[in-house]
Amino acid sequence: MRSLFRVLAVSLLLLPAAFGWGREGHRLIASLAALHLNARAQAEIARLLQPGETLESIASWADEIRPQRKETSTWHYINLPVASPHGPWQPFCPASGCVVRIVSEMQARLADRTQPAAARAEALKFLVHFTADLHQPLHAGDRGDRGGNDLPVVFRNRPTNLHSLWDTPLVERAAAQPGFRQRLFRKAGFFERRRLQQGTPAGWAWQAHDVSRDAAYAPLPAARPAVLGDDYVRTAAPAVELQLRRAGLRLARLLNDSLGR
Ligand SMILES: [Zn+2]
Repeated sequence: MRSLFRVLAVSLLLLPAAFGWGREGHRLIASLAALHLNARAQAEIARLLQPGETLESIASWADEIRPQRKETSTWHYINLPVASPHGPWQPFCPASGCVVRIVSEMQARLADRTQPAAARAEALKFLVHFTADLHQPLHAGDRGDRGGNDLPVVFRNRPTNLHSLWDTPLVERAAAQPGFRQRLFRKAGFFERRRLQQGTPAGWAWQAHDVSRDAAYAPLPAARPAVLGDDYVRTAAPAVELQLRRAGLRLARLLNDSLGR
């Protein structure tokens, strides 16, 4: 029994975290959003969630229910080709849905006070998760490799893929930089709010697509697997931090728009 448990534990550790920012990324974004909510939105969120739940604790719920809720599997991303100029996103959104459409749908459901509380609570959990996923550059940009899932990488002597690298190890590396938490969690002033919080989910997806092109794909060496080291991390870290910042402030805006009026 013990050895079976050990095998299970080891295989869980080896599972690729290919579902969007890893737990750490989702948690950071939810915490940052929570700092920028108005009192009305805070009260509504407390009413919709169960006792003990917080934005941070529910931020990865959509990944946990993914195996049981098959219809949600394409909601975590949109594959915008990196070589494509900005334009309509709809051609890249499958009938089963994509992150751009789902963020708007969940925001509308959350804001609709005629909906049952349970449906609005679920919309809240989805909105918190998918607004974050929308900002993981490889959940928006794609080079025919399923957002880097099919692009083999060796990082610190460990085989992985480009997508997983951006989900978790790069977030952990960025978070280990001096002053990271002070910078990420500083209260946004008027001008930063105006600069970062405006726009639409579609525009934010095209912006993340640009980040994937410039910070994820462009610095790759030609050989496969791509052997990546500290140079790659140094280029990526500011992009990771900026995407986390944008995601947190924009999530706060969507929640204030839906619940804070
Ligand atoms: Zn996800």
